[in-house]
Amino acid sequence: MIVNKVIAKSLITKSKIPGIDFVINPYIGCQHACIYCYAEFMKRFTGHGGEKWGEFLDVKCYDMNKIRPEKYDGKTLLFSSVTDPYTPLERKYENTRHILEKLSSTRASVRILTKSKLVTRDIDLFRQFENIQVGISLNSLDEGFVKLIEPRASKPKDRLEALEMVANAGIPTYVFMSPLFPKISDWRKIIEAAVPFTSDFRFENLNFRGHNVSRIMNLVRRGYPNLREYYDELREDYSVWNEIESDITEFCSLRDVDCEIDFHYGGFSKTS
Ligand code: SF4
Repeated sequence: MIVNKVIAKSLITKSKIPGIDFVINPYIGCQHACIYCYAEFMKRFTGHGGEKWGEFLDVKCYDMNKIRPEKYDGKTLLFSSVTDPYTPLERKYENTRHILEKLSSTRASVRILTKSKLVTRDIDLFRQFENIQVGISLNSLDEGFVKLIEPRASKPKDRLEALEMVANAGIPTYVFMSPLFPKISDWRKIIEAAVPFTSDFRFENLNFRGHNVSRIMNLVRRGYPNLREYYDELREDYSVWNEIESDITEFCSLRDVDCEIDFHYGGFSKTS
């Protein structure tokens, strides 16, 4: 892992993600190294062109005293959009924790999104926010599959345990199922496993991008050869998502849970 410290001009930046006013990315890069990661384009803009995603991390250095929590009152802030706020080295550098400390008096709506059990370390800080939601990103309970697609993220059972701990601390939680791998992601089982700790489920489709298509198709060819043709079709014809959307809506209605479906094709995606 190549770790650099870089001077950052800002940590909280305006966002084009629908419903999010500002994004907070404490790091450049992400150690979780998800094979589909939509944030990999960041390599081009940050001097990491020839490097492997997941193998470098720039720790942003910033004078945290410059953060003015009142500036964001009434706005929506997301940790994070192009890294995971609880990437493993957050344990050492604590950028996310320090930003949260400075923001705790804000009247913004703060959203956390992560694939890491490290999130539970900051429960004491989450309690200080007026309006916060902590989201766990999880798209399968199959440990073997998750290891292949999200090699350094926490195991599914650890993410569920983190969700439980955060919920038990009285903090609003949600589960973000992203990206859904059709016929592989066991989203019904995830709902059943997580429903004691949240009733807020959000879904995002798998997007094929230039940099991830060969990795995803190799995974399907090796692990799910019977789905190869289906995934070939999926790359060309997005209409299958309409069917998946109606299955999800029906199931969520039966289980009496909230569901937000954020299927989109191309454009920007939240990563973690
Ligand atoms: S999808 Fe999220 S957790 Fe995975 S590598 Fe990208 S930023 Fe990190």
